[in-house]
Amino acid sequence: MALMITDECINCDVCEPECPNQAIFLGPEIYEIDPDKCTECVGHFPEPQCVQVCPVACIPLNPQRVESRESLMQKYERLTAAAKALTSSSAPKP
Ligand code: SF4
Ligand code: SF4
Repeated sequence: MALMITDECINCDVCEPECPNQAIFLGPEIYEIDPDKCTECVGHFPEPQCVQVCPVACIPLNPQRVESRESLMQKYERLTAAAKALTSSSAPKP
């Protein structure tokens, strides 16, 4: 599953830089998680990094986005391939 941020968020900004997938962003009122980018940190870390740092424990699993570990790993591989393609296309041509 992807994770989600509840309205208990105090906008402390601690989680956003910890996300290896740049899935966390400041929404209209509180921080939000893009479920298409959140892999529960699968592929990067053994535990969700945002959950580790959140001082008010407001980042539960998103019940709307039930995903197996395999599908989270596939999402990680898709995101990594997309990031690599972006990096190589923006690299200076020899
Ligand atoms: S669980 Fe990991 S990938 Fe998902 S939002 Fe938190 S830090 Fe980002
Ligand atoms: S760490 Fe928790 S309280 Fe702070 S911005 Fe992230 S979700 Fe909100």
